[in-house]
Amino acid sequence: MAKGFFQVPTAINEPVKSYAPGTPEREEVLKQYKAYYNGSVDVPLYIGAEEIRTGNTKKITPPHDHKHVVGQYHTAEKKHVEQAIQNCLESRKKWAALTWEQRAAIFLKAAELIAGPYRQKMNAATMMVQSKNVFQAEIDAACEIIDFLRFNVEYMSQIYMEQPDSAEGIWNRVEYRPLEGFIYAITPFNFTAIAGNLPASAAMMGNVVVWKPSDSQVFSAKVIMDVFKEAGLPDGVINMVTGDPVMITNTILDNADFSGIHFTGSTTVFKNLWKQIGTNIEKYKTYPRIVGETGGKDFIIAHPSAKVEQVATAITRGAFEFQGQKCSAASRVYLPKSTATEILKLVKKDVESFNKPGSPEDFSNFITAVIHEGAFDKLAGYIDQAKTDADAEIVVGGGYDKSVGYFIEPTVILTTNPKYVTMETELFGPVVTVYIYEDADWSETLQLVDNTSIYALTGAVLASDRYAIDEATKALENCAGNFYINDKPTGAVVGQQPFGGARASGTNDKAGSAQNLLRWVSPRLIKETFVTPENYRYPFLG
Ligand code: NAD
Repeated sequence: MAKGFFQVPTAINEPVKSYAPGTPEREEVLKQYKAYYNGSVDVPLYIGAEEIRTGNTKKITPPHDHKHVVGQYHTAEKKHVEQAIQNCLESRKKWAALTWEQRAAIFLKAAELIAGPYRQKMNAATMMVQSKNVFQAEIDAACEIIDFLRFNVEYMSQIYMEQPDSAEGIWNRVEYRPLEGFIYAITPFNFTAIAGNLPASAAMMGNVVVWKPSDSQVFSAKVIMDVFKEAGLPDGVINMVTGDPVMITNTILDNADFSGIHFTGSTTVFKNLWKQIGTNIEKYKTYPRIVGETGGKDFIIAHPSAKVEQVATAITRGAFEFQGQKCSAASRVYLPKSTATEILKLVKKDVESFNKPGSPEDFSNFITAVIHEGAFDKLAGYIDQAKTDADAEIVVGGGYDKSVGYFIEPTVILTTNPKYVTMETELFGPVVTVYIYEDADWSETLQLVDNTSIYALTGAVLASDRYAIDEATKALENCAGNFYINDKPTGAVVGQQPFGGARASGTNDKAGSAQNLLRWVSPRLIKETFVTPENYRYPFLG
């Protein structure tokens, strides 16, 4: 604290722009998209004050147009990762000592830069390399990251205000110290906002960070680094390294000063990181904080009392927006026999009204490409399997084509087997599987929802019967960290629905909340006594 108890600006959610025909934002984002499409971005490593170009490069190609190259990124060698760690530790000396309002100002400025001059750079880069349509880019790469930055500043100031009582003659104070050492942030491809938030939230609390973005997100990661630099984030506070995840991770997890991991990505990778940290535990100076948000197999269950149009819309939007590549995307659906045919008919109609999957540059495309060839091949494999398996059939979709882009048609699989492979496995694509239950088996079906998947990220119940809603809310208590009533299971908003799941879906440290920020501090209690005893004898000793 400097010389005042400063109140931070009240955080408000960034309004979502419409990009409707004739709006200035539509024109601006298309102009930026074209400039990126015809340009050639060069993404360096950001280590301390340096931008390092190693010369070992990989191409950056849009998933919807994978023969077209829009740039390259440089990959790190072990020595660069070590250099990034050294820079962190050097920068920590000044950064950890900086008064909090100066840190707050940097991240508030970053939010305003994204809301203004960088908005269309963030959006166009996200459309280009993550193949988001403009609306999906806007709610992620503009609004959500702005919200993370603004709300986290508010939560940070609330945390600092949380102080203990003091009895007469003493003063108790708590300092929320950053962790000793450095934090390792590993981020996924699917949200530019998450990519920015994982290093930023730890840095905001006074920590220094080595950030490894996903190979499939490096373009928008560069724009984030540009924003942080322009916002005045001192060199070396966030160091960005790209390249071989195993080598980078081994180098970091071998370091005695490693003090925490902020991860979002798949469950298998996170479990292996946890194991590796456990194996290395004797090496570390402190017990590392382990925070990870991971996979999901998110459900929708409709009660016979649910309105069919509402269920169909929850499926269409919940399963297919951003090609089902949201960790929260609906991927298993339970429908009652009495309304299932009607609901499926409506979903089919919705899906048939989409254009064929295509480029996000064409604003009439609701569905664009999946992220890369590996994802495409995996999804095509499950679709082919459903075409031949006796206990599955394709209701709509089922087509795919990777000649130009990694395009998978939105697909609904209907199964008679509630434990069918696509009811249990996270596919991470525009494929949703439906199981139809007997209306009389509502309560048993809730048990089925609870015990079918290892995950517990998001889920939704749709019903108009309040007793049914109450029963589902209780029966499904532990199978979703974000539970929705009469809504789709996607679309969490920072400051309103803190996000995270349990079981195999993560440590549930709720990104975009004070709970998350508390993982990046180590409180120090200071007790000061004003009249210090000078004799050891207590009165009872006579
Ligand atoms: P991923 O696990 O493939 O990659 C995530 C990050 O881990 C990337 O930076 C990647 O390079 C890195 N990585 C990969 N292998 C590694 C290894 N062996 N060692 C160290 N790092 C490694 O995930 P993805 O495909 O980028 O993202 C999709 C996954 O993320 C899905 O499972 C999705 O459910 C999950 N996700 C979860 C949330 C959530 O909040 N729960 C949010 C977004 C995404």
